[in-house]
Amino acid sequence: GPSVMWFRTDLRLADNPALAVAAERPLVALYVLDDGANGARPLGGAARWWLARSLRALAAALAAQGVPLILRRGAAAEAVPAVLRETGAGLLAFNPGETPIDRAAEGAVTAAVAKSLPHVAVSHGVRRSALIHDPASVGGRVFTPFWKHIRAAFVPPPPLPAPDRLAGAAAVRSDALNDWELEPTAPDWAGGLDESWAPGEAGAAKRLADFLDGGLTGYATLRDRPDLDHVSRLSPHLRFGEITPAQLWHAARAAMASGRATSLDVEKFLTELGWREFSYNLLNQRPLLAEANIQPRFDAFPWRQDEASLAAWQRGLTGYPIVDAGMRQLWQTGWMHNRVRMVVASFLVKHLLQDWRAGEAWFWDTLVDADPASNPASWQWVAGCGADAAPYFRIFNPVLQGEKFDPHGDYVRRWVPELTDLPNAVLHRPWTAPPGVLSAAGVTLGESYPAPLVDHAHARARALAAFQTIKAKA
Ligand code: FAD
Repeated sequence: GPSVMWFRTDLRLADNPALAVAAERPLVALYVLDDGANGARPLGGAARWWLARSLRALAAALAAQGVPLILRRGAAAEAVPAVLRETGAGLLAFNPGETPIDRAAEGAVTAAVAKSLPHVAVSHGVRRSALIHDPASVGGRVFTPFWKHIRAAFVPPPPLPAPDRLAGAAAVRSDALNDWELEPTAPDWAGGLDESWAPGEAGAAKRLADFLDGGLTGYATLRDRPDLDHVSRLSPHLRFGEITPAQLWHAARAAMASGRATSLDVEKFLTELGWREFSYNLLNQRPLLAEANIQPRFDAFPWRQDEASLAAWQRGLTGYPIVDAGMRQLWQTGWMHNRVRMVVASFLVKHLLQDWRAGEAWFWDTLVDADPASNPASWQWVAGCGADAAPYFRIFNPVLQGEKFDPHGDYVRRWVPELTDLPNAVLHRPWTAPPGVLSAAGVTLGESYPAPLVDHAHARARALAAFQTIKAKA
């Protein structure tokens, strides 16, 4: 009988080990939207938008070779066996999941198939593609030794090509993608996402090619500059498995071998991929990574309840230009530069004393790359309660961060246009500008742009005092 390829977070044809196996027979492609049915966290709004676009791209690529993409909704342990039964399939193939939830779901599917469809062969785990390392074989709480070990012990195998010929099996009933209502309609807030991204495998490949042609040169130093274009923006493509870390690894190493990139830049880029590996490793050690402090002493931390501050942060109205620029970039494009993510997260947790989980939840809803491992791991890292975390008492000064990493103010002017005419000397600290400078720039603090929500020195002292209350509990 035909094979069923169960796609999950591997929405691509190339470097897809399970698909390579399934493609040896007439093929039915299946995607199951579990939407919380497996105990997984329901996707946030921006990720739902991405998923819809990515599925459409995958369906088109498969349809070009006569393969139907069947969409079903519900628990995978019911949906997958149902499709196997309806198609008369003799083989089920899928790639191993890399989160505890995904592994639980595949365990339930495998058990259901063994029980009710014992003649169906199940192929999974032929080879790992979503991560470079195997979280079950390596542990650790400190990034540097972790990465040293991974870098020495694991070289991802050369990526597999897309299967050169697919044959479609007879289609069975599929949900209509539009009925899943993954994309916003009224209001349609996704215009900025549309302009910023091309979800799908082809979009991912183009993004990588552009990065190799441009941004990678200078990456090691310029990746911290949100005003420049020196990061890959591959994160949502990686998140949905439209491209693999092995593909990135080999492409970057090839650029180095051919002299197009320096080893310094390439090694730094691989190290950032290493943080993704590290985050997945932590998630596997800590399935409740988005809920529970890794350091239990933070359970007693005196977070403030302050809906108004949280809302000002979410809307990019804190009065700190670099923070507001980041939050507006996030809202409009579904993505934020990494340096600015660190600044806005630190501001929420330390200046506003809001529980990191509130920020993590906002990012989960608004990021197109919202990732079950990297998002909570990064929040815990910034908040100081994570593994190998930035210490809580190291408090970013948002003015100095802005002046250092957005030195000409191009980033702030792009996202906070009401400050465009302020001179650089005060752009990151408008409240220090003389009244004449503000009025010449058309800025009225408290009206056209907010006055600072908190004073930095006051907020810093308050955060340190809050930390003192739990410090002893190391
Ligand atoms: P590049 O610099 O081009 O890096 C290449 C790839 O490496 C990225 O696509 C990403 O997959 C990985 N990577 C880079 N930096 C990190 C990092 N610090 N941690 C984990 N992986 C990394 N990344 C997510 O993919 N999803 C998230 O939900 C997410 N939430 C974050 C929340 C906070 C508070 C912070 C501080 C960081 C978060 N990051 C998250 C990590 C990082 O900001 C993004 O991966 C990066 O900005 C994506 O842009 P890029 O693809 O251009 O990165």
